[in-house]
Order: sequence, then C-alpha cells, then structure tokens
Amino acid sequence: MSGWLRRRTYLRTNDRKPHYDVVIIGGGGHGLATAYYLAARFGITNVAVLERSYIGSGGTGRNTTILRANYKTPSTIRFFKASFDMYAGLAGELDYNMLRSERGLFWLAHSELQMQNQIERALQNQTFGVNTVYLSPDEIQRICPQLDMSGGGSRPIMGAAYHPPGSTIRHDAVAWAYASQAQRRGVHIHQGVSVIGVRVEHGRCVGVDTTAGHIGAGAVVSAVGGYVTLVADMVGLELPIITHPLQAFVTESYRPALDPIVASADLHIYVSQSARGEFLIGAEIDPYTSYSTRSTYPFLSSAAARSLELFPFLAKLKILRQWTGVCDMTPDYSPLMGVTPVESFYLSSGWGTWGFKAIPASGIAMAELVATGKVPPLIEAFALDRFERDRAVSERASAGTH
Ligand SMILES: Cc1cc2nc3c(=O)[nH]c(=O)nc-3n(C[C@H](O)[C@H](O)[C@H](O)COP(=O)(O)OP(=O)(O)OC[C@H]3O[C@@H](n4cnc5c(N)ncnc54)[C@H](O)[C@@H]3O)c2cc1C
Repeated sequence: MSGWLRRRTYLRTNDRKPHYDVVIIGGGGHGLATAYYLAARFGITNVAVLERSYIGSGGTGRNTTILRANYKTPSTIRFFKASFDMYAGLAGELDYNMLRSERGLFWLAHSELQMQNQIERALQNQTFGVNTVYLSPDEIQRICPQLDMSGGGSRPIMGAAYHPPGSTIRHDAVAWAYASQAQRRGVHIHQGVSVIGVRVEHGRCVGVDTTAGHIGAGAVVSAVGGYVTLVADMVGLELPIITHPLQAFVTESYRPALDPIVASADLHIYVSQSARGEFLIGAEIDPYTSYSTRSTYPFLSSAAARSLELFPFLAKLKILRQWTGVCDMTPDYSPLMGVTPVESFYLSSGWGTWGFKAIPASGIAMAELVATGKVPPLIEAFALDRFERDRAVSERASAGTH
C-alpha cells in the first residue's frame, strides 16, 4: 500500500500513557474535532481520545449528513453559521475529500401559521447574514418539480423557507479526517477502550478509569453523544438531558432525480437523495427514552407513508436498509457545552438531532476553552447553568421535524 493511502486511511495504534494533559471521552465527531483543534490551534498534543467502539460508530456515523445554518435565535444562528462556514473549508484544511455537496434546503409550510414561521425564519436568517429566502408555491415547484404540491391531497404546500447553501457531506469521512490529522499531530486515539469511571479529587477531575486501567488527566472532556448522562453520573452531575432514539432509512439506488433537501415539520419528515442515488429519509425522534439502537417497523411504515405525501414516485422503490442512533436531547433543543461544577471536567453535549453540523465550531470552541480556561463568546449561550438562570435558547422549531 502506498504511503499516502496508509496515512489517509488507517489509524496507528498507540501505546497508552499513564497520564495525558487532556483526555477526551468519545471518538465521535465532537471528540475528534476537539482533539484536532487542541493540537492544531493550541499546540496541546499530549491528548488521548478514548472510544469504546470504533471512531464514528455513534451518531456521527449514523446521521443524515445535513449541514445548514438556518436557525432561529441569534445565538444559534451565529454558532451554526460559524460551523457551516468552517465546513466549507474543511476538506482543504484536513486534506481529505468529504464529498461536500451544496443542494439547497426547503422548509415547507402547510398552513398560515407555518407560513408566518418560515417568513420569520427567512428574515431572522438574513439579519445575521444567512442566505434564507421565503418562496411561493410556484417558485418551489420550479426548483423542485418532483414535489407533490398538494401534499398528498391533505397538506398543500403553501410556501417554504429556502436555504440555498444547505448541503450534505460524507459523515464518516468527517470523523476519519479529524482523527487522522489529530493523530498526525501527536494525539493518541484508543479504540475499544471504554470509560467506566471518572475520578474527582477535592472537586477537581484528575482522570478516568477505563476497561484498560486508570488514565490520569489534567482535564477531561465528555463527548459521548447520547450516553452523556451515564458519564455525567460518574462525577455526580445530573444533566437536563434525555436520550431518545432517532431512526432513518434509505431506498435502493435510483438515477439522480432530487437535488434539494426537503423538510416538512408538519409531516415530521425530511427527504434527500444521496450521492449513491439512495433516497435518504429521516424523521422525528422516537417518543420513548432508550439507549437501544434497534430499528422498528412502526417507524419504517409510518415514515415511508409520510414521505409518499411529498414524493409519490418513491412508492416504486424498495427500502434498502434502516438504522438508529441515540440523541442527547436538551429541553430547549440547543447544545449544552462548556464548564461544569466539577473543575477540569467539560461537556460537549446536547447535540441531539442537530449536532453533526456543529462539529467544527464546537471542536474549536471546546479546544479554546480547555486550552485557555476562557469560555469563547460563540458558546457562552449554551452553558449548563442557562436553565437555572432562566436563559434557555429555544430552538425546537429548528429541529427540522418539529
Ligand atoms: C438518524 C440520525 C440522523 C441525524 N441527522 C443529522 C443531520 O442530518 N444533521 C445534523 O447536524 N445532525 C444529525 N444527527 C445528530 C448527530 O448525528 C449527532 O448530534 C452527532 O453525531 C453527535 O456527535 P458526537 O460526537 O457528540 O457523538 P457520537 O458521534 O455519538 O460519538 C460519541 C462516541 O462516544 C462513545 N462512547 C460512549 N460512551 C463511552 C464511554 N463510556 N467510553 C468511551 N467511549 C464512549 C460512543 O461509542 C461514540 O462513538 C442525526 C442523528 C441520527 C441518529
């Protein structure tokens, strides 16, 4: 195998050190990006990422790959726009082709109230320099002639917020790119190592207990996606997070037929076509709490039926596969990141159904926080104590399917 192929494709195995300056729990996009930026931007290379399975095996490798910045509150628009802009240059920075593809994204309105909501979204986005416009049914149909504008006869499409930069990007490539570039700068990535305890002495986090023994740490970052309450429990921290499963499925491949991504909050469904030609359909979280990644038939039949209301031609296609991830949902549908009451124990969490697009901005902000001890202004609004200060950042309307 040629040198560059080995360098790009495979991670090296490192001997575990007894102590690292920073230990990151979780080898998803957020953990790996934090490790990369610690090394690349702040010169902190004595860093370990501990992943109990393989990198990208959590939500990072299970999501529907959508990138967008069309949020609704000033704090979230600023944050997700920063991340979206970073994604645009990421392939160059990490020297890795991630198949980023600008597709345009529709947020459909099926009622007068939703029209008002989508007009508000467009205006709010424009105020913060995000390209979102409100379109009439004729304009929607011109860009997306495949849409059944009657919404299956019961949900007529009355307008939409259209976000032309809305994109997709290859999710596992994002994890691999951050991992390989972090490792090239000296970061250790230990796969198959599970954290089973977090040690706190005199109010300060000093390391982790793992299935491979104790590892000391100057700082510990929890970036474990839907499993965050289990890790927080290890330091006696109760979080306002509930884990829910989120499912998706793809059809068999079809010729390129759908360029934009189409989301309907009324039908609780979104549809796109992948580079492989599969139609990718996602929906809302399952209503029950669970860590299970088992897929269900009720979800499949209901989501498939709802997707036909928008795209009747999908009825001719077979379903190829379905899968499930678990999501760390906050009450306000915004991230939860930053410091905690335990000194040197940090959280990158609350990524719910929306966290893949946040990986670059969260990674760099978390790295800055750990390196400097100062909370970057970009993430101040997402602090854990916002709930007791009555400063929730309400983004429920921006979860795509709510
Ligand atoms: C079906 C689906 C569709 C989605 N679609 C989108 C989308 O289109 N756009 C978007 O922005 N977001 C989307 N999301 C959300 C997004 O995938 C997540 O928010 C994001 O991937 C979270 O990344 P993470 O790095 O925090 O967690 P993860 O990627 O889940 O990584 C956490 C890692 O921690 C590891 N871990 C857990 N516990 C331990 C432990 N004790 N010790 C060591 N390791 C541990 C896990 O094995 C895992 O690999 C979707 C999610 C799902 C499930």
